[in-house]
Amino acid sequence: MLDYIVVGLGLSGIAISSHLEKRDKKFVVFEDNSQESSKVAGGIYNPIILKRFTLAWEADKQIGYSIPFYEELEKKLNTKFIQPFNIYRRFHSIEEQNSWFEAADNLRLAPFMSTQLVREVNSNISGDFSLGKLEKTGAIDTEKLISANRDYLKKHSILKQEKFDYSALEIKDDFIIYKDNKAKNIIFCDGFGVTGNPFFNWLPLRGNKGEYLIIKSKTLKLKQAVKSSVFILPLGNDLYKVGATYNHKDKTKEPTTEARIKLQNDLDELITCEYEILDQVSGIRPASADRRPLLGNHPKYKNLFVCNGFGSRGVLIAPLLSEKLLNFIEDEIPLPPEVNIVRFQRKHYKG
Ligand SMILES: Cc1cc2nc3c(=O)[nH]c(=O)nc-3n(C[C@H](O)[C@H](O)[C@H](O)COP(=O)(O)OP(=O)(O)OC[C@H]3O[C@@H](n4cnc5c(N)ncnc54)[C@H](O)[C@@H]3O)c2cc1C
Repeated sequence: MLDYIVVGLGLSGIAISSHLEKRDKKFVVFEDNSQESSKVAGGIYNPIILKRFTLAWEADKQIGYSIPFYEELEKKLNTKFIQPFNIYRRFHSIEEQNSWFEAADNLRLAPFMSTQLVREVNSNISGDFSLGKLEKTGAIDTEKLISANRDYLKKHSILKQEKFDYSALEIKDDFIIYKDNKAKNIIFCDGFGVTGNPFFNWLPLRGNKGEYLIIKSKTLKLKQAVKSSVFILPLGNDLYKVGATYNHKDKTKEPTTEARIKLQNDLDELITCEYEILDQVSGIRPASADRRPLLGNHPKYKNLFVCNGFGSRGVLIAPLLSEKLLNFIEDEIPLPPEVNIVRFQRKHYKG
């Protein structure tokens, strides 16, 4: 008898399976590469919303938990995937500069926002109003993180690289059976794939498509990230990620011409040097109706759980919230009401 079956190995499934291992639980993970959100993500960790200079939901608490979590994972997997760098926010007006200083006065924001404005971060970045500098920020190379986790789970024979067929799940009172696996519980970490999951597709998960360009520029020589209407992130070897877009209507998987043109226009407005577009990637962010995670227990089946709804901030949210889900399952510690799926049950669950 296994303790758990986990469906999905994106940021959510990675966090859950790491915590399960630490708790000495027996589990298997199913992954079919049907969703790309975690793989194509910019991987940025930054607690500040750079449009309004406000703190993202509970992000100061999450960053204090998540970075040590990833550091520990780096050691376990013997792979480096944390890339610390400053993020520079290009200002478009004096009013924006003033709002930055006002925000930096806030005790929860102050540790991340420098009050020394920067005149120029790189001669290839245009702008008349200086830049604000964020500290203690960076990115997780999510492709490396996923591939190192996949190899680790494969080595320990606990990864099943196949589609989890929801219709083949047999639910008994105290356990579940899936093909030749018997487990006490199952946790669905299936991202936007949950829309095809008959047990949890009643949840109001809207999905938000995001696209990035990968560009090469030998002249740019940028070592830190810059945010204007788009982010530009250094990948090393003269490569950069440029993005991302937000589209809550288009739920197709493929990159679009519309997004390429938008990103290219935004980039042309930001940098003054030549570049070449090498690639374009896209994924669907699992964004919930009220922008809070979707965690909890199925209303009818006590051994079915969901760990989803991380939207555009999975890097910081997944490690802490997945731990809260396990505290709930294993130790009966109640979930914070704002993330518990019970909040949607009355309106959306039709039993
Ligand atoms: C363009 C873009 C940029 C982003 N940038 C950032 C960023 O800079 N910082 C940040 O914090 N977040 C960012 N995000 C958001 C972040 O990627 C998400 O919060 C995160 O990916 C959610 O992880 P998840 O594991 O819940 O979902 P997913 O990554 O979608 O993972 C779900 C997994 O389940 C698997 N799966 C689904 N159904 C099945 C099935 N039936 N059987 C087997 N396997 C299944 C899928 O293949 C997938 O691997 C970005 C997202 C996008 C699209």
